[in-house]
Amino acid sequence: MEKWPIGVFASVDAGLGVHLDVARDLGVPTIQLHAPSPKSRTPERAKEFLAQLENLGIRLTAVFGGFAGESYADIPTVVKTVGLVPPETRAARLAEMKEIADFARLLDCNVVALHLGFVPHDPSLPLYQEVLKITRELCDHCKQNGQSLHLETGQETADALVQFIQDVERDNLFVNFDPANMILYGSGEPIAALEKVGKWVKSVHCKDGRWAKNPGQEWGREVALGEGDVGFENYLRTLDKIGYRGPLTIEREIPQEPERQKAEIGRAVRLLNELKAKIG
Ligand code: MG
Repeated sequence: MEKWPIGVFASVDAGLGVHLDVARDLGVPTIQLHAPSPKSRTPERAKEFLAQLENLGIRLTAVFGGFAGESYADIPTVVKTVGLVPPETRAARLAEMKEIADFARLLDCNVVALHLGFVPHDPSLPLYQEVLKITRELCDHCKQNGQSLHLETGQETADALVQFIQDVERDNLFVNFDPANMILYGSGEPIAALEKVGKWVKSVHCKDGRWAKNPGQEWGREVALGEGDVGFENYLRTLDKIGYRGPLTIEREIPQEPERQKAEIGRAVRLLNELKAKIG
């Protein structure tokens, strides 16, 4: 397989990714897909979607779970609403995540990913043990489907994430590394973090961001790729160093205006291609 095929984060009817026609116009060979809304997760829709992808010559490399009621308004709201950590929604979301994994299997996709939420850093807390337990359950479900589970980075420091992955003790649990999230959440310098979690990195986002004045207390700002603090040449060199050869999936959290997406993400595609030519 080609090293570092470019990808984009895509959506069908839920999430902020690009639509498939935009992905086609961008000429990218791969996508990650935000899980479609529940009403679209049917065998019929899966079949149609697969045919569309085949037509466009695009390969699906991961399906990302997301849930109704999640809000990224500010960091405390993320803690309360995102992923499988919040207790009130946990059982229902775990069930939904399993169902998303089953839908991904219908799409012949062997990678399922999600923002798990803010995992507490103290392993002695009951909440930590509870999150370990459901993560194991989800990994085991994915395993039966022949799938891996990738955790999106951002909310934890690299050390906390490594500790958590080791504590889960499942061989199909990996990392979707997002360098911008480390900056946006203020959870650590992204390149150093990538080196620490490197052996678990099986998919990545190419997203850029600027540090907040008070990292960890307030959001940093997501910006167009190349305009932030990640440093993409260094990022790709580090991916090379850890032996990562998978897709470079561009994620850009702007409104779904096709012309703006094509212009901004098009620039990101060109930048990544230049760096690939230089480094890859
Ligand atoms: Mg991301």
